[in-house]
Amino acid sequence: MSVRVSREVAPVDSDEAFRIEIRDWLERHVTDDVRGAGGPGRESEAFEQRLAFARRLAAGGWTTLAWPVAHGGRGASLSRQVIFHEECARSGAPSRVDHIGTTMVGPTLIDHGSPEQRRRFLPALAAVDELWCQGYSEPGAGSDLAGVTTRARLDGDRWVITGQKVWTSLAHVADWCFVLARTAPAPPGGPRSAGLTYLLVPMRQPGVTVRPIRQLTGDSEFNEVFLDDAVTEAGLVVGEPGRGWRVAMATLAYERGAATVGQQIGFQRDLDDLLAVARRTGAAGDPALRDRLTRAWVDLSVLRAHTLRVLRADPPPPMSSSVIKLLWTRWRQGLGELAMDVLAAGDAGPEATGRWQRYFLFSRADTIYGGSDEIQRGIIAERVLGLPRQARG
Ligand SMILES: Cc1cc2nc3c(=O)[nH]c(=O)nc-3n(C[C@H](O)[C@H](O)[C@H](O)COP(=O)(O)OP(=O)(O)OC[C@H]3O[C@@H](n4cnc5c(N)ncnc54)[C@H](O)[C@@H]3O)c2cc1C
Repeated sequence: MSVRVSREVAPVDSDEAFRIEIRDWLERHVTDDVRGAGGPGRESEAFEQRLAFARRLAAGGWTTLAWPVAHGGRGASLSRQVIFHEECARSGAPSRVDHIGTTMVGPTLIDHGSPEQRRRFLPALAAVDELWCQGYSEPGAGSDLAGVTTRARLDGDRWVITGQKVWTSLAHVADWCFVLARTAPAPPGGPRSAGLTYLLVPMRQPGVTVRPIRQLTGDSEFNEVFLDDAVTEAGLVVGEPGRGWRVAMATLAYERGAATVGQQIGFQRDLDDLLAVARRTGAAGDPALRDRLTRAWVDLSVLRAHTLRVLRADPPPPMSSSVIKLLWTRWRQGLGELAMDVLAAGDAGPEATGRWQRYFLFSRADTIYGGSDEIQRGIIAERVLGLPRQARG
């Protein structure tokens, strides 16, 4: 099967030519209404314009750059994926509204979905015709994801699902949700993750209620999602019923990768912006602040060099994604704290003050989502350092 993705330009045969191709495309398509919009803590910013931009990217064949050619992608090498993210960040391309679908759901269906599921969902994912959200966390199950209590039972030709999800990013705009639900009890003495099933659930139906959660920043980019006899078709299980854990873990792994490099170029832009504020307000003349700004630059250079080394390594060093996550969360929270001290040293004006306050507040979430810092350190302690396993309740 092939995904309907048109290409505006012919494929190119060197990385440098590829860089020119994407740079040129971005120059023509990153318009002022979307430049620099969105990002962590700013998901509502210019949402409709960012959606339109994602569809332009899709029409150019860029949303599925990393997907295999057999599934409608470009099968781009890692170096080209890195170039793509570097150029997007450099051009001020807005943050993607489709990332859950194109970087998590698409690859999951390519590797674990049925031919029918691929036929049905990949074209709309590639074209950004449908948006997705991730229904894993629950009030009693976050780090301990195997503890999800949302239940699904097969009733004729459909699954009936009851439970509650929480912190569901973008659920208020999503058409579909991938839901981890219990369909059978865990076997006595067996893993708690057994009996969990990975279901694709339509969001727009009477059994699904989405309630926004207001965050520290004032924005509401995540939600509570109530599933009260929500339904989905019997065939919309990815993998086998009761064996969804492996699929759920695979989806998380796709989230990390070449996009990390683009994220770090975004960090560089943040640091440049803060340097501009510090120069403007005179804070850059304060020896203690100069020292911290310089350290932030050095730490980011080290983080970037380390990330590129890890991405190119085959096999990657053990638990490298945990190490990178820990390094960047500390860097971003440090920059937020530094920004507060820069603001305190001079009058930056309302716009910069608001922007950096939101940055500081949202960065508190960095050490929670995508696996908290404690969980990452636990993984490294047990799997790299061979320390005794933590007692679990
Ligand atoms: C901005 C944001 C967006 C999110 N988006 C989504 C989404 O789209 N979909 C989704 O499903 N979820 C989402 N989440 C939820 C996120 O995955 C969970 O918040 C995260 O897994 C932590 O779970 P929890 O909040 O239940 O905290 P808990 O797991 O209860 O943890 C509370 C504290 O205890 C610590 N802790 C827990 N277990 C251990 C342990 N074994 N050892 C040491 N310390 C431990 C944690 O580190 C943390 O400090 C999002 C969260 C945030 C902040």
